[in-house]
Amino acid sequence: MPTLFEKIVAGEIPATIVFRDDQVTAFRDINPKAPVHVLIVPNKPIPTVNDVSDDDERTLGHMFIVARDLAKQEGIAENGFRLIVNCNKHGGQEVYHLHMHLVGGAPLGPMLAGGKHG
Ligand code: AMP
Repeated sequence: MPTLFEKIVAGEIPATIVFRDDQVTAFRDINPKAPVHVLIVPNKPIPTVNDVSDDDERTLGHMFIVARDLAKQEGIAENGFRLIVNCNKHGGQEVYHLHMHLVGGAPLGPMLAGGKHG
């Protein structure tokens, strides 16, 4: 079964795409948690960080380059932003196609909310 994000990458489900190349696709989160909330996903469906292989090194590095450029494009680079990659149940991962959240546009508060280990 293709993941939701594979369908977005393939253009089978609509999304507001802000960047696309041969390695990654970036689109606006449907339920934004900040004024800017973009998801950067590898076109290749890697389920979680646990499934990353050495062959993915170039694509994963490229995701940071794209995040840098999108932060500038969205006007949030100077004030700052947060990059988040959730993994599995404790990480709160909902979509099992690895993705990087680029969030910003306002102060984001403490790194982890509601935890008892902070
Ligand atoms: P995560 O909890 O890290 O797996 O994040 C999944 C993210 O995907 C959430 O922030 C959702 O709001 C977002 N999301 C779910 N469905 C869509 C969609 N169709 N288009 C854009 N973003 C989505």
